[in-house]
Amino acid sequence: MFDTVFIANRGEIALRILRACRGLGLKTIVAHSDSDAEADYVRQADRAICIGPAAPGASYLNQAALLLAARASGAGAVHPGYGFLSENAAFAERVNAAGLTFIGPDAACLRTMGDKIAAKTAMRAAGMPCVPGYDKSLPDDPGQLAAIAAEIGYPVIIKAAGGGGGRGMRVVPAAEALPDAVRLTREEARHAFNNPTLYIEKFLAHPRHIEIQVLCDNHGNALWLGSRDCSLQRRHQKVIEEAPAPGIAPQRIAKIGERCVTACRQIGYSGVGTFEFLYQDDAFFFIEMNTRLQVEHPVTEMITGIDIVQQQIRVARGERLGFTQAEVRSVGHAVECRINAENPHSFLPTPGVVTRWQPPGGFGVRVDSHMTTGYRVPPYYDSMIAKLITHGAHREDALARMRQALRETRVEGIDSNLALHQQLLIDPGFSAGGVDIHHLERWLADRAAAESVPPLRSPHGDSGVTTLAELDGASASQSA
Ligand code: ADP
Repeated sequence: MFDTVFIANRGEIALRILRACRGLGLKTIVAHSDSDAEADYVRQADRAICIGPAAPGASYLNQAALLLAARASGAGAVHPGYGFLSENAAFAERVNAAGLTFIGPDAACLRTMGDKIAAKTAMRAAGMPCVPGYDKSLPDDPGQLAAIAAEIGYPVIIKAAGGGGGRGMRVVPAAEALPDAVRLTREEARHAFNNPTLYIEKFLAHPRHIEIQVLCDNHGNALWLGSRDCSLQRRHQKVIEEAPAPGIAPQRIAKIGERCVTACRQIGYSGVGTFEFLYQDDAFFFIEMNTRLQVEHPVTEMITGIDIVQQQIRVARGERLGFTQAEVRSVGHAVECRINAENPHSFLPTPGVVTRWQPPGGFGVRVDSHMTTGYRVPPYYDSMIAKLITHGAHREDALARMRQALRETRVEGIDSNLALHQQLLIDPGFSAGGVDIHHLERWLADRAAAESVPPLRSPHGDSGVTTLAELDGASASQSA
């Protein structure tokens, strides 16, 4: 059983894993690139090892360097976090071959679920409802292609079997656009994922993105930890997440949760994972499984009181789950806003020095961030710099806390999407709950079209402070 964990990731999730390890009394070794050497979380680790230059390919994706560092450090396990190598079956195998524990499912599960065609096939076999489509590699022959798409019915969506991160997808509205869409998506898939295999699905018009968190040990125990709604997306990237999914009957969620658990047992899944569904007209359609920790895991932690990262590490140590499905409770509601270093108009990343970082606080407020004042946001990685999470007795309570948390948050020196979150939190559509995956793009388009709407800007231009002189003036004019 290991007592030292090598963290093969960076930023907020590296710190989140470090905290979980400390809580379990485990030692931590953090891998970092040249550009992350000065980050505060790196110094908090028991030991930090530089694994290469800033470019991800030379550091956080550099398997040889990571393995060398992990082995030399004396660690007993590797935590891959999310992104980077977290779903890479070959890396998991190499970690195991080096005599270390890979904190995640076994390589066979990573391989099956990492190929979206294989994943859909396995899930159909396990009785999971899937998006209608052609669950095989798309042929090149134009005649065959046209026949497959026509059979599914337009609009359709072409997807890369090896895709991820919202990339490698193209919606095709009608037959004439099909050949070009297939050619372009194939080129993109070959380039981005080194795998030109494509598949095709019905494009659902107005679904919500609903997901189920699962947790499984190595002894055949599998649990589902409630639902999340991640429908607020821009370009297939999640912006705000919440738990539980609002407006769906708990019995409905329980039924799909139980299906996920059954599927986990059938494929011999171990560790944490997420089943992603599109939900439309009261029906769930499986789209993919993420075989790792999700960015949005905190909202589930807030409603269940379960530390998902600690549980993940405990099952990797061979422990049995210490509780049953009946003991998994869901209390209140939680929301998460992803704070990104990005331009509020162009959405382009805004790397640079954060001259002031002041996180919010108070009852029911949680901040997962590796930032400190003076932190330099590097240009090489994902632009997410913080996650604000609030919990309340019910949804409106959690949203009200989030509005206040956003008011308190200060990010200065660089642009961020704080103002976008502030505006979204007062949008009547979002506040009502249950928006579909196109809501945010529609909302942004409407704003762009309406000239009277002021542009999104830093929320702290107006200090809101009244001076004594102003009060004096006001009372003077009142008495006049
Ligand atoms: P990735 O692995 O890149 O995140 P997913 O398959 O999970 O890709 O899809 C990401 C997002 O794309 C979904 O949350 C949804 O918004 C949209 N999407 C995917 N498949 C469909 C579909 N068949 N119909 C409508 N939207 C879809």
